[in-house]
Amino acid sequence: MKYALICGKKSEATKGAIGYCPSCDSEVIAKCGEKKINHWAHKGKRTCDLWWENETEWHRSWKGHFPVEWQEVIHIADDGEKHIADVKTGTGWAIEFQHSYLNPEERRARNAFYPKLVWVVDGMRWQRDKQQFQKAMKESRVLNQKPLVRQVSFPDECRLISEWIESTAMVLFDFHESEQADDSTLWILLPGISDSRAYIMSISRLNFIIYLKDEKFEKIFREQLLPIRDQLLAIKKRTRVYSIPRYRLSNAQRRRRNIRL
Ligand SMILES: [Zn+2]
Repeated sequence: MKYALICGKKSEATKGAIGYCPSCDSEVIAKCGEKKINHWAHKGKRTCDLWWENETEWHRSWKGHFPVEWQEVIHIADDGEKHIADVKTGTGWAIEFQHSYLNPEERRARNAFYPKLVWVVDGMRWQRDKQQFQKAMKESRVLNQKPLVRQVSFPDECRLISEWIESTAMVLFDFHESEQADDSTLWILLPGISDSRAYIMSISRLNFIIYLKDEKFEKIFREQLLPIRDQLLAIKKRTRVYSIPRYRLSNAQRRRRNIRL
């Protein structure tokens, strides 16, 4: 954890400090070493939130874009289950920054737990992920120009997309294109259209952060993303899409689908 409570105040870990976990109220110890970034840890190996992931610089850099009061916020469901959201905005959007692999069961549980959730997924954990994603984009078909929506016909060939394609919450892939937020693009996997194709849009990292901070994200989500998602869902209902492995397509079919022969 980045923050523990000291005298009721959210505080970062400093050498020798002792704080209290904002979720379970137990004593936590400041870990300030060379290998890992400074953090707070529960005693022993226990942690009160099984969904918690050890943080990297990437997590911290993302969280640092948001106000302290939005970082590491406890979300409590109606049945009393509670978890710490990496970021929770003033309008209730939980933003989860995911670096490591997440098993499908936990992913579904988190999708169900947070009423409004956006995943930001670290696309640089494996080098081949970026290459596969770039290839998928190159071979994708432009479905809509404004805003630009791309259709990926073979999501199975990109590990990241196939891992997240069934997510009912929005997923953004971050390939760390630049340290400068305004030069960096995030790739949006449109949620809830689980068929054999994936639908991808993009947003600049800077705009994503600004929309969240200015509380405009809700409006953008409802007025720009949901209508496109709903249109695609309507098309999906009308047409059944079957996934044909690439090797079974004829050259003519490949040309039609904009796939390099
Ligand atoms: Zn705890």
